[in-house]
Amino acid sequence: MAKNPLHCSFCGRSRDEVKILIAGQEGHICENCVEHAREIIEQELTVKDDRSSSSFKLTVKKPIEIKKFLDEYAIGQDEAKKVLAVAVYNHYKRLQQKVSDLNNGNEVEIEKSNIIMVGETGTGKTLLAKSIARMLNVPFAIVDATVFTEAGYVGEDVESILTRLLQVCNYDVTSAERGIVYIDEIDKIARKGDNPSITRDVSGEGVQQGMLKLLEGTDVLVPPQGGRKHPEQKLIKINTQNILFICGGAFDGIDKIIARRVQTNTIGFNVDKELQDNMKKNLLSYVNATDLKTFGLIPELLGRLPVVTHLDPLDAVTLRAILTEPKNALIKQYSKLFELEGIELSIENDVLDFMVEKAMEFKLGARGLRSICEGILTDAMYELPSSNETQFVLDLEYAKRKFDKSKLSLLKVA
Ligand code: ADP
Repeated sequence: MAKNPLHCSFCGRSRDEVKILIAGQEGHICENCVEHAREIIEQELTVKDDRSSSSFKLTVKKPIEIKKFLDEYAIGQDEAKKVLAVAVYNHYKRLQQKVSDLNNGNEVEIEKSNIIMVGETGTGKTLLAKSIARMLNVPFAIVDATVFTEAGYVGEDVESILTRLLQVCNYDVTSAERGIVYIDEIDKIARKGDNPSITRDVSGEGVQQGMLKLLEGTDVLVPPQGGRKHPEQKLIKINTQNILFICGGAFDGIDKIIARRVQTNTIGFNVDKELQDNMKKNLLSYVNATDLKTFGLIPELLGRLPVVTHLDPLDAVTLRAILTEPKNALIKQYSKLFELEGIELSIENDVLDFMVEKAMEFKLGARGLRSICEGILTDAMYELPSSNETQFVLDLEYAKRKFDKSKLSLLKVA
């Protein structure tokens, strides 16, 4: 007997192998596939609900996987990535442990692992913090420590650090309470004292004091619109216990402080000359809380930022990789922009080397690369959309000409 030609268009089972076959306009579906489809829909809808509601479930990757994720976005900085991966993993472990501990009556309390990153400008501090938040799918806010002042001075109250977080999650307090805040330029609120690089006329110490309660995890009353609190304003209560704070700063001149400490420690010991030379080259990698204290951060603040890590200055090889390798590398972005205009952009290798060379001269880290690319490509991006070109080859002669014409050379650090 000939096999029944009717079959499920999804799994391919024939009419004889299934109980029910439902006919559609162009095909059929069996009861197994209907059931399977129902499960998929249910799963998808739960994931979406979880993301938008407060019953959000955090799936935290293992530290090695976190580091791998960061590798996709940031080049190098292995040490910082590792330290961040462990700190973030432990932080969110702590959140999960709390729930189970409540049930088991277990009282070992894992402390919060707020982080401080030390590294020159443009070395990837913000990028790393942002990438972590992207991975965890939690609200993320960047604030600049320099806008905060102690009570009585013009500026914003420290509580408005949390306003930014509330704003990014549409004032959903539960969601904000598990977010990440990146506080940039933390070095600028260092205590004035022996440190000559601090030129603010308002001492940062009061701001540091103000930040203590935010970092340690208590209920904080936050002005919903930011700025300064005033009596008529209705304040929003946020508990900061589960908010991860990551601070970053360039800490100009800290290498001298580290050098002094390291030297004092090694004098009198028979320390290998090679090791000493190596230490001198990588001073930043020896940074610790004592150096940050000497720089002007108060011990109470440092106590609430127990994880200290550093970012290496970017060398030419790293800058070159930053141009082309990360998931949203600059060159990939420009290629995409041109592609959207129907133009194929090709950039010769010596142009990339030229961009790196200039970025090194400016000492702006990877941030310089963007302005260099803009300087070189702006004319092309201005003219080409109105032309019929389908290809644009960026060669060294063109790049140099546009670079010299732009005002970029003024950026050069003496
Ligand atoms: P910082 O916060 O240390 O001043 P950012 O993280 O804001 O620096 O970096 C400035 C720019 O340079 C960003 O566009 C970032 O993508 C890029 N960048 C910096 N460091 C790296 C890196 N290690 N890998 C990839 N891109 C980087």
